[in-house]
Amino acid sequence: MQHDLLHAENVALRDIARQHETPTYVYSRAALTQAFERFQAGLIGQNHLICFAVKANPSLAILNLFARLGAGFDIVSGGELARVLAAGGDPKKVVFSGVGKSHAEIQAALEAGIFCFNVESANELDRIQEVAARLGKTAPVSLRVNPNVDAKTHPYISTGLKNNKFGVAFEDALRLYEKAAQLPNIDVHGVDCHIGSQITELSPFLDALDKVLGLVDALAAKGIHIQHIDVGGGVGITYNDETPPDFAAYTAAILQKLAGRDVKVLFEPGRALVGNAGVLLTKVEYLKPGESKNFAIVDAAMNDLMRPALYDAYHNITAIAPSTAQAQVYEIVGPVCESGDFLGHDRSLAIAEGDYLAIHSAGAYGMSMASNYNTRARAAEVLVDGAEVHVIRAREQIADLFKLERTLP
Ligand SMILES: *Cc1c(COP(=O)(O)O)cnc(C)c1O
Repeated sequence: MQHDLLHAENVALRDIARQHETPTYVYSRAALTQAFERFQAGLIGQNHLICFAVKANPSLAILNLFARLGAGFDIVSGGELARVLAAGGDPKKVVFSGVGKSHAEIQAALEAGIFCFNVESANELDRIQEVAARLGKTAPVSLRVNPNVDAKTHPYISTGLKNNKFGVAFEDALRLYEKAAQLPNIDVHGVDCHIGSQITELSPFLDALDKVLGLVDALAAKGIHIQHIDVGGGVGITYNDETPPDFAAYTAAILQKLAGRDVKVLFEPGRALVGNAGVLLTKVEYLKPGESKNFAIVDAAMNDLMRPALYDAYHNITAIAPSTAQAQVYEIVGPVCESGDFLGHDRSLAIAEGDYLAIHSAGAYGMSMASNYNTRARAAEVLVDGAEVHVIRAREQIADLFKLERTLP
């Protein structure tokens, strides 16, 4: 039997919606903790570091929660580094990925003393050498290699194919490692590989790792000793009917390939740790029947949750309380003036105006991709811990949206 009221831990979502209004992101501390601990459970006895991919959900409270659990962090900007430090994260557990690291970002990371730079091009390597030399520091680096494997995911979130902007082409990696090993302010530390996101099969991960291990052996033959292998993130979650590998199967398969090697292994999970630990609460503003479609116009929109508009992504959408209304099939759309502003197509729901809906699996790439398009203030975020509801980000105020702007004199 179903619960009458949908809950986050011990709190009814309806109570959160009434008290904190909508749209509001709701996360569960227990779900976040459980995800991290389940991931870690497969790594007992293995020298490892789990670096949460900050861009999936950069909330200070969530970063702080993961830091307390011992996590490191995968960052892709100086802004994310600042967030990790503000959240109490350990810079010695930070890896820095991304194709466009600026001089200032490299300097900030060197000054913070991060664990490793994941270098994505030959010119970036030169720039890191130059900045490190100027600061009198040594920069630990991995090359992010592009193994040219198909992650079999949405093209916008596939990163390991030849024609992607990410990483160093596999054929060039050996030569660039040899160069890196000669640079005075560079310490060749690891190899990194991240092939994409929302990957629901094991084989792309294992194919990529095979190629990486071949490179590690080729480097060893040249006297370049790799101390850590970063296998990236990308483990998928269930939004609808996907069947991604569970954490135990994933980590076991990776560790099996690493058997007999004295190497530290790094993981960069984002979505898999937070995606199903959050929902977006929204209110039905209007029901608008039409000739061919019925619309449910809700108060959340593509600016709050961009994934449906951006990737045609599916999110389960449910009412959070029983209703006496007749079930009908609706297009769930927001108030933004774009036809692409939808949250779900063809959903059968028994709802009335004023009812609240939960948009599920919204913990990853939800709030982190939110914008102010249509001068809409970004949603509030709350974190439920047992029976307690903590506001971890207050709802943005409209006046905040233009406080940096000036009209002409
Ligand atoms: C986005 C990203 C991740 C996390 O991907 P998920 O699919 O959320 O696990 C990890 N590493 C890098 C370099 C990324 O860009």
